[in-house]
Amino acid sequence: NGIDIKKSMKDVADWQKGEPIPYSALCKTFEDIDSTTKRLEIQEYLTSFFKCVIEKSPENLLETLYLCLNKVCPEYENVELGIGESLLIKAIAGVTGRSPQKVKDELAKVGDLGKVAKDSKNSQKSISSMFGSVDKPLTIPGVFKSMKKIASLSGHSSQDSKVKEIQNLLKSCRGDEAKFLIRSLEGKLRIGLAEQTVLICLAQAFVITDNEYQKLTKAKKAEELTEAPNIIKSVYSELPSYDKIVPALLQSGVRNLREHCKLTPGIPLKPMLAHPTKSITEVLNRVEGHKFTCEFKYDGERGQIHKLEDGNIKIYSRNLEDNTFKYPDVIERISKAVNPNTNSFVLDCEVVAWDLEKHSLLPFQVLSTRKRKDVIESEIKVTVCLFAFDLLYLNGESLLKKPLKERRELLHDSFQKVDDEFSFAQHMNVSNTEEIQAFLEESVKVNCEGLMVKILDGAESTYEPSKRSRNWLKLKKDYLSGVGDSLDLVVIGAFYGRGKRTNVYGAFLLACYDPENDEYQTICKIGTGFSDSDLETHFQYLKEKEMSEPKSYFNYDKATKPDVWFEPCQVWEVKTADLSISPIYKAAIGQVDSSKGVSLRFPRFIRIRDDKKPEDATTSEGIAEMYRKQFNNNNDNDIE
Ligand code: ATP
Repeated sequence: NGIDIKKSMKDVADWQKGEPIPYSALCKTFEDIDSTTKRLEIQEYLTSFFKCVIEKSPENLLETLYLCLNKVCPEYENVELGIGESLLIKAIAGVTGRSPQKVKDELAKVGDLGKVAKDSKNSQKSISSMFGSVDKPLTIPGVFKSMKKIASLSGHSSQDSKVKEIQNLLKSCRGDEAKFLIRSLEGKLRIGLAEQTVLICLAQAFVITDNEYQKLTKAKKAEELTEAPNIIKSVYSELPSYDKIVPALLQSGVRNLREHCKLTPGIPLKPMLAHPTKSITEVLNRVEGHKFTCEFKYDGERGQIHKLEDGNIKIYSRNLEDNTFKYPDVIERISKAVNPNTNSFVLDCEVVAWDLEKHSLLPFQVLSTRKRKDVIESEIKVTVCLFAFDLLYLNGESLLKKPLKERRELLHDSFQKVDDEFSFAQHMNVSNTEEIQAFLEESVKVNCEGLMVKILDGAESTYEPSKRSRNWLKLKKDYLSGVGDSLDLVVIGAFYGRGKRTNVYGAFLLACYDPENDEYQTICKIGTGFSDSDLETHFQYLKEKEMSEPKSYFNYDKATKPDVWFEPCQVWEVKTADLSISPIYKAAIGQVDSSKGVSLRFPRFIRIRDDKKPEDATTSEGIAEMYRKQFNNNNDNDIE
């Protein structure tokens, strides 16, 4: 590619075998990656770095990987970096002897707190250097340990300890280290390094360090390099824990990884997701020639229930959050639904609010009023019932590769209905438009959102963790006359209210997420759908998240600049009349028009999506697809 990887690596890999890796080596690699936009060059830099780590200090590989991914632990442990701007400003000011206001002013000019930290640090004469003593250089394990500590500290009283810990790190920073350190603490490295790329590099580094690799033919080498990332990706979607995967890789390489890392009760897997559809005709076109099944689409919260080998029971959210303490009632009762021969399992189900008197489903709004943390069983006001729709693991065996038909049979054999507590998703193996329509109407009558249509048999009916698959289609009643699915958008700014809304924000700026460029792209201003109490709630929550400047990864136009900006922290479900091309909004820019984005017409707020993180928001690709679908399906609505 014309880049001098060897020369670059010579500088980077300048540490002794077995030594803790200097943090500067990683930062140099980040710099190299940042200096190019070419995917292959990015991959070469990172693969070469991982190769050095594997060969010289493999015991630091896990920490290196986490720092590249800007994480400190598996997602399901719910510990995240993402330290607030004001805290970081305080830390930078303290170490560099500038006032917080001066740091803020610099930030307004430069737009990148990492760069501000680096510049302030480098222009300041450190006291230690004046007295001849130099702080010890930072190492990867040292930085990782501190970051993990900072991320784990919680509560208001922890703020001072966090600042102190950040300052200790900052004091020892040299060169570019402060820039990347601060960006990591903010929650984004901003060097265009997507998680998928990191995994490709990790996989390829293992392939090329394998002794057998050099003996292979050219064609075989290429095959190994292509296959290895797929193995790691598929293993990760079943067992999303680098804590487990990295030691297994170090012990036995990529090829044997599947044997060592499998779906394990106690480690939640990323759930399979469904593809939105707009009409029954669209559904029938997709499933033509396949056996398929329709299930009620319950309107609650996804629950992934694990029974571990030791008998412990856990429940995880769609987002892999541990909800065990939110649902002590579910944990207590689930054993009644488990048949005697069922030991360990992983069950996919929907937790729905339930009316005990009428023995009927209640809408999601009721479930959303239930307390979220430290729930005490005797104080529960909102009763729930479980509706199981899939079984992913049973008695020591993963069922992911089995067809849905078989998984469903095993589900029904292994569990039993318990009135008002546990049931199976209502299903019907229908075949034509009329039958689907009748089943859809039936589902809506009992407070469901519509139907899930799933391929029932054959290779396309396996469970695909983390994938938005076309083998599962969602058909919601209200899609049929609108644009399709509602959107899940991130609130990144607000406009001051007027009149009745004087003391709260009056309208908000929303954005979708673009994983390709790792940025939030503005999509609309929204001021409709909010009750007075919604506006009050939003104000109380969001005022804590205000920032003086937009993040460098907000893609917006001056014409849409709000009065205040927010850290990306909350996802809102929004409905819209339709999508249109816009000269001032940036959603899906370059995907449907080379220079314009997509915007929403008449957006309306529906609800907060607590179970989604900002990066789980609707993607720009999803927006582009919805935009295009409007034209494809115009004459395709089955229900008026
Ligand atoms: P997505 O999860 O697809 O990003 P979303 O969170 O907005 O979108 P929906 O569009 O409501 O969710 O559709 C998928 C969700 O529907 C699942 O995550 C699950 O919680 C719920 N669900 C209800 N009934 C079923 C069912 N029978 N099969 C699968 N999922 C179901």
